[in-house]
Amino acid sequence: MTILHSIDELKNQFDTDVLNGKPDKDAFEEIKRKYTSRKGKIAELFAQLGSADPDIRPEAGKALNELKEYITIKLDGLSAVVSDNTEVTAADQLDLTLSGDPFPVGSIHPLTKVIEEITTIFTKLGFSLAYGPEIDTDFYNFEALNILKHHPARDMQDTFYVTDDVVLRTHTSNNQIHMMENHDPPIKVIAPGRVYRNEDVSVRSYCLFHQIEGLYVDKNVSMADLKGVLNYFAREFFGKNVKTRFRPSYFPFTEPSAEMDVSCYFCSQNGCNICKYTGWLEILGCGMVDPEVFKSVGYDPDIWSGYAFGMGIERMAMQRYGIEDIRMFYEGDIRFLRQF
Ligand SMILES: [Zn+2]
Repeated sequence: MTILHSIDELKNQFDTDVLNGKPDKDAFEEIKRKYTSRKGKIAELFAQLGSADPDIRPEAGKALNELKEYITIKLDGLSAVVSDNTEVTAADQLDLTLSGDPFPVGSIHPLTKVIEEITTIFTKLGFSLAYGPEIDTDFYNFEALNILKHHPARDMQDTFYVTDDVVLRTHTSNNQIHMMENHDPPIKVIAPGRVYRNEDVSVRSYCLFHQIEGLYVDKNVSMADLKGVLNYFAREFFGKNVKTRFRPSYFPFTEPSAEMDVSCYFCSQNGCNICKYTGWLEILGCGMVDPEVFKSVGYDPDIWSGYAFGMGIERMAMQRYGIEDIRMFYEGDIRFLRQF
């Protein structure tokens, strides 16, 4: 059998293979490998060309090149058909016009929301944001705030002691001392943050919660300024129609001290569970900075005056969103968090 004959036969064989129904992808790859790979039929004939009869070698070479081209063109054409007819793969099913799978989107924690809302109101009034340490010394958390060693106020605050002298802060009021120590007056800051109390965990109390502390120090600051700012805040936060009242109270670091209530917006002061049928909701504690506090940071109380206030974020958030169990805030339950 001459090489020319072999070339003819290979062409017939190829035609038979290709025409034998529409090949699926695997069969097509097999045919391609059989004819055009480095050890395929064509390469095999090219290898034989060297030992062919010199008289027919040029003709055979030409015929073989033509066959190679023929097969290449046929296979190219076929590859398009094959990919159209092969099983549909996952990638083929991609419909780029469809909207994508939704990504799970988190929501802002209700406490964060309330903190942001409150700080926004105060920053509009010219307060700057400040942050202080959550682990602090007895001096900043108690002593400089006029809560001396055997002061009864220490009993009001069950404290986590790290060492004899270091505590997890029991209120954000430690920020007042840090601010005044590091800055000369006038000072106008709002300081949100976490605070800790060694309390039994229950529906109403938790071992940590959040406060926002406000401090304003300048010359001739009066209780009227304090009431003005807090009334403005209450209207912004609770709505234009909210009523406020100030009740005398006691804090070691303010004198005089007061607690501010707002009219219950759940019952319009008709009495409900949330206001315990008083028509009022207790919102915050406040007062004029005690001269003793000024002395502890080296401010002259004859020159400087100021007010401070602090409010619990959890209580505000519970009232605002009707949350009855304080523990919900810390459990990270997404069924709860998704609602905000
Ligand atoms: Zn009420």
